[in-house]
Amino acid sequence: MVVLFNNKFVKVCSACVLALATFVSVAANASVKVEAEDFTNQKGIKTESSSDTGGGVNIGYIENGDWVEYAIDVPASGSYTLTARVASATDGGRFVVLANDSEKATVKVKSTGNWQAWKTIESTVMLDAGPQTLRFNFKGGSGYLFNMNWFELIAQ
Ligand code: MG
Repeated sequence: MVVLFNNKFVKVCSACVLALATFVSVAANASVKVEAEDFTNQKGIKTESSSDTGGGVNIGYIENGDWVEYAIDVPASGSYTLTARVASATDGGRFVVLANDSEKATVKVKSTGNWQAWKTIESTVMLDAGPQTLRFNFKGGSGYLFNMNWFELIAQ
């Protein structure tokens, strides 16, 4: 099969064109959803039953200075919408997002009215492709900050 590439017609195999098109479309719609309790490492947090839609487990008892880490595999380099499912009875909590120790965003978590009143919040992070450690450093005042059920990275 002949295709136009960089203003030149080049001969490539049909299967290769199909494979390339499939890869691009997968990358364009790529997303990675992670349950907050599926961490690889953490400091200071606990897990508990969640009353969010679908039940399951959330992380909680999060205080200033606590952190959690996840092993993720990013399908393609670029901008991702980071959605996080959170609940809190207080204002003032936030988390700093790091990928392989490089700071990517700070996400504020406002009160949702209750420790089990769940809301989805959004932020944007730039990520490199490949397996990496995603880390949330939790920051805020005294007392518990918020709970998290899951988060998702969606290619923009
Ligand atoms: Mg969960």
